[in-house]
Order: sequence, then C-alpha cells, then structure tokens
Amino acid sequence: MNAIPQFPRPVNEPEFNYQAEPEGRAVLESHLRSTDVVDIPAVIGGEKIYSGDVEEVRAPHDTRRLLARIHRPNEQQVRGAIQNSLAAAREWTALPFDKRASVFLRAAEIVAQLRRHEITAATMLGQSKTLDQAEPDAAGELIDFMRFNVYEAQQIHAQQPLTVQGAMNRTDWRPLEGFVYAVSPFNFTAIGANLACGPALMGNVCLWKPSQKSALANYRFFEILEQAGLPPGVINFIPADPAMATRVALDSPDFAGLHFTGSSQIFKSLWRSIGENVDRYRGLPRIVGETGGKDFVLAHPSADADAVTTALIRGAFEYQGQKCSAASRAYVPRSLWPAVKSALQEQLPQLRVGDVAQRETFMGAVIDGVSHGRLNARIQAARDDGQAASIVSGGRTWTEPGWFVEPTVIEVTDPRHALMRDELFGPVLTVFVYEDKAWEDTLKLVDDTSAYALTGSIFCVDRQALMQAETALANAAGNLYINTKPTGAVVGQQPFGGSRASGTNDKAGSWMNLLRWTSPRVIKESYLPQGRWQFTGN
Ligand code: NAD
Repeated sequence: MNAIPQFPRPVNEPEFNYQAEPEGRAVLESHLRSTDVVDIPAVIGGEKIYSGDVEEVRAPHDTRRLLARIHRPNEQQVRGAIQNSLAAAREWTALPFDKRASVFLRAAEIVAQLRRHEITAATMLGQSKTLDQAEPDAAGELIDFMRFNVYEAQQIHAQQPLTVQGAMNRTDWRPLEGFVYAVSPFNFTAIGANLACGPALMGNVCLWKPSQKSALANYRFFEILEQAGLPPGVINFIPADPAMATRVALDSPDFAGLHFTGSSQIFKSLWRSIGENVDRYRGLPRIVGETGGKDFVLAHPSADADAVTTALIRGAFEYQGQKCSAASRAYVPRSLWPAVKSALQEQLPQLRVGDVAQRETFMGAVIDGVSHGRLNARIQAARDDGQAASIVSGGRTWTEPGWFVEPTVIEVTDPRHALMRDELFGPVLTVFVYEDKAWEDTLKLVDDTSAYALTGSIFCVDRQALMQAETALANAAGNLYINTKPTGAVVGQQPFGGSRASGTNDKAGSWMNLLRWTSPRVIKESYLPQGRWQFTGN
C-alpha cells in the first residue's frame, strides 16, 4: 500500500517490421482477408447493447465489402450512459494514480504484443490506410499516447507547493466534477483512444462517441481497454447518432468537459451549444478541441528543389491528404518552380492508388461518398476556372470499387484563391508561384490567407530569411517544421495542436492537454493550530 511507484520516461514504440517478421505479416493478412462482419454494440457499464438500429461500415476502397454493423444506442440509452458513468466516478477517482495508470499501460502492452495486427488491420480496412500509414497510427502512436500520458501525468502530480515547518501544503490534482464528453474523428485510431483515455487517466469518467467512419478500429481498442481491466462505466462507448448524442451530453448539468477532435465547423457548433447551456451546468466546462488545418509549405529561393518536391508528395498525399496536418497549399518561388513542377509531374503518376492491402499501394480511397463528391466538385470547379487555376498533375476521380481520387496538384494565379484558403481534406495540393523578390509579401500571404493555423513547413537554407519567416509566421502554425514535411508529429517529440480556427492548442499527448482534465484543490494542514489571536513580536 505504501509505495510510490515511479514511471520512467518512455521511448517511442518502434515500428513493427513486417518484412523481417513473416509471422506477424501472416497474422495481419489473415485479419485483412477475414470475411467476418463485426457487430459493434454500445457498451454502457460493461453491458453490450445491440440496439438493432444499425448503420453499416464498408471499406472505403471496396464499398462491396461490409466490415461491420454499428448498433446505435437511442436517446434514453445515452442518458443512461451518463448516469452510469457518474455512478462509476467515485470508485475510479478514489483509485490511486498508479493503479489507474496500470490499466492504460496494460492496454499499451496488449496492443503492442497481443492485438497489434488486429487493430492495424481494422484501421487499414475501415479507414482505408496502407500498412505504412496504419501501423504508426493504430499501434505506434496509440501505444505512445498510453505510455507518455502516464509519465506526463506523473510530472503534473509531482508539482507541489512549498511546504514549511509546522504546516503541510499540497495540491490535490482532482478530476473534473461530472463527466467528460469525448468526440473523436475518423482519421486516426490513436486520437480516439487518447481523447477518451487522457481524461480517464486523470481520474475522470468519459462518454466516448467515436466517428461512425472509424468505429471498427475504435471498438477494437475499446475491447482492449476492457481486457486491460478498465472498470465498467469509466469510459462508456456510445457509437450514437452524433447530433443526438451531443444534444443529450451537452444538456446534462453534469457535463464537465468536451474533448473534441474534428472539423472546426462542428467544434464551433458544439462550443455555441455549450455557451447557450452554460447556466445549466454545475461548473464551467473545459472545452478542448483540435480541429482543421490549411497547412502550408513555403519554399525560399535558397531551398533544395528535390527536398521540396519530396515534402510536397509525402506531406500532401500520404493517407490521401486526410491528415489535419497535410500540406494543402504551397508557395514556391518562380526560380524553383520549373524543377519542382517537372519533378511532381514525373513522380506523382508513379504513386499507386488502390487496395490498401497491396504492398505497392501508396494511397487508398477517401473516407466516403460525401468526401469524394466534395473533392470531385472542387477539382471540377478548378477545371472550369479558366486562367485562374490549372491542373498540374492528376485530377481524375472514380468510384469503382471505392472512393478514389488521384493525387492532384493545382496551380492558381491568385494567392487568395479559395483553394489556398479552404480545408479540402483530400489529396489536392494547391500551389501559388511567387516572384523571388516578393519573399516578404509572401510571408504576409502565408500568414493571413487562411483562418487556420495548425502546421506549416519552411524550406530554406538562408539563415536570415529563415529567421525572418519564423518571426513573421509566429501565429501561423502551432507546429512549425523547418526543412521537413508538416506531417507526422510524434508523441513526446512534437506535442501537437494549432490555434486560430485550428483549435484550442492544448497539445495532444503532453502534460498541457492532461492539465485541462484536472481541477486542482490546494490544501494547507497546520500541525499545531494557532493558540492566540494576537500578532506575535509586537
Ligand atoms: P467531423 O467534424 O466531421 O467529425 C468529428 C466528430 O464529430 C465525429 O465523431 C462526428 O461523428 C462528430 N460529429 C459530426 N457531426 C456532428 C454534429 N452535428 N454534432 C456533434 N458531433 C458531430 O471530422 P472528421 O471528418 O471525422 O475528421 C476530419 C476533421 O478533423 C478535419 O477537419 C481535420 O483537420 C480534423 N482533425 C484535426 C486534428 C487536429 O489534431 N487538429 C486531428 C485529426 C483531425
């Protein structure tokens, strides 16, 4: 009982080498080939609820393939989930930190050693990720979140006020009073896990509403949490209709915090509802949201054209551009453009688009028909835009057997074209070519063209110009990259998040985020109470 275990600073989980480990490859492939259709229940207080109100999950790259059926809980069940969580809160909060931490560390071990291939395969099939994209997400980043959160929470708990002789001062890192509503996006399996588990590690109870589009991999992880010994009700899994679940959660007087990742538009709508309901709540809720991006790559005339090209290809087209951090607008100087343009035109047609289970595939499909329709419309509008926009590479879309969009590069003549401003969330990169001497004006354009401020890359060898750009773009990105692509933040190395329309910048996977899920109480205990009211010494 009287132990204070110390959790060491973790190292990042190494990528599993499927080339070198044929047994792992065989297990992965058997999961990829499996024709089982998974029934995904709501899980409330440990009870699996198969409502029969079913939504189908199909592989985006092969829509003939049914993967799962989500059983959506109804309004009464979502209300029940809130009550159930609140009932679970007392015991969970009272559990010492190291015991809570052990649940999540055990979950990390189960993913790493027992169910890695299964959750990676679920991510490949359900979210149309190639192995190169799915393994660092569903295994690597997810495991890192679990382990680094424990270490960082321990650092928070260690922050204590000064204690002097005769009295003890301490900070009790309490969880919030009520429940946290965790709403996750489709594009990273790891993010869903972190949105629910970060607050729970800090002693909170959570309602986790996953995206319907990633429900299969999210449910696999929920099963892993159960296997790891997470007590029933601490996190209730509610794959419900988003608008209904959100209305019920945000109407509750016990709503204590929102942990959201997704589009800026949905986040703002949730923020508005919270504002309207503010008088209902027991406390003032914490609102944490990581949202959209219109992430830039800015090349200086001193940059290396090959390095810029590679960053554009990897940054814009990995996972079909469906990363919040994906490069989606580029500023290239006139002197560098011929080399970059011809390299893009030569290399992009080599990127294979298709079935994510095949090793040579670089890009799978976009997530669904809605996204496909939106991207198709934007590409068509660019074609119809006369002189203002021209397709440099790609532009084809097709729907058999899935929602495919070719990696597409569009050059625009107006740096404030809508394609340089709006998040498209797909494999479409827009380029503006600037005059070499207009470096300073271009810095201004990068800064104020888009409402977002998530990630950005500067490619530049000239130190003075680099310094100038870093200063001018101080508020243009929460994660800035120099001479490297703007994607691929690693837990513990680049805490992640942006400002402006990109979110509250609470830096997922770090103490900065975990801090939001505590409401500290400071306690002073005097060993000998004062015996007289008079001041001493006078
Ligand atoms: P989305 O906004 O469509 O959905 C996010 C979540 O909100 C899902 O769980 C969804 O079911 C829910 N939702 C949808 N409509 C709702 C409604 N009316 N009321 C309540 N909830 C609702 O986003 P997405 O398509 O899943 O993910 C892509 C977006 O997420 C992009 O904008 C991307 O930039 C952003 N994103 C940001 C980060 C980051 O760290 N900044 C990370 C990943 C994704």
